[in-house]
Amino acid sequence: MPLAIKPLIDLADTDRDLQTYIYARSHLERQIDTARSVVDQHQKSIEQKNNELEILASECKEVRNNIQMQEELISRLDGQVPKIRNEKEFAASKNQLEEARKILGMMEDKMLNLDLKKEDLEKEIETIKSQFDESNSEFQRETSGLLKKQEQAEKKIAKLQPRRTRLLKKVPQKIKRFYERCQDSGISTPICAIQDRSCSGCHTVLLPQLVNELMANANSHKNCPNCSRILYFPETEEK
Ligand SMILES: [Zn+2]
Repeated sequence: MPLAIKPLIDLADTDRDLQTYIYARSHLERQIDTARSVVDQHQKSIEQKNNELEILASECKEVRNNIQMQEELISRLDGQVPKIRNEKEFAASKNQLEEARKILGMMEDKMLNLDLKKEDLEKEIETIKSQFDESNSEFQRETSGLLKKQEQAEKKIAKLQPRRTRLLKKVPQKIKRFYERCQDSGISTPICAIQDRSCSGCHTVLLPQLVNELMANANSHKNCPNCSRILYFPETEEK
């Protein structure tokens, strides 16, 4: 016949393992995050520069359109020259053409500036991209072990969590409530074994009477007088 205390011990063991893996997981997460921060920084600055490039490209497009329109205006003005009939019209046409060519020149200067800026920005992006690739492969190298460990912890947690739920259903309601109250208030091991005649949760030395009572009946449990954890007598302690 299985011991009534057995589900409680199993639950305590499962919880202890679960906590170990949960702690390991968050520790690994922090380590991985730290290693990733350099890569993230490069990634972010690539995105930023690409946005700048996009803005610059649309500016270039606008200026190019304006240049085209200006060139069309000039060729229209040029086409009107043979139809000129007098000095006055000739002077007016000359002025218009000069003015249009001057504006075109300014637009072309602007275009040149934008092209240079674009070129610089593209070079900068290339540099950041190679820095990103470098830091990324370094990150992969550094963290491949950590990522594997994280994956293992994740798998263990996925197995232990449903096991915990299953075990918790097996214990009496009263103990279950006590158990949950303890964990809510930060006691992660509400059930613990007697070790060296002490509570293994708070390390208080227990009265011989209590130890003897639990030793005599392996199927029973009592609360620790100091921390009120549920105490049981482990089989190995008898030897
Ligand atoms: Zn205790």
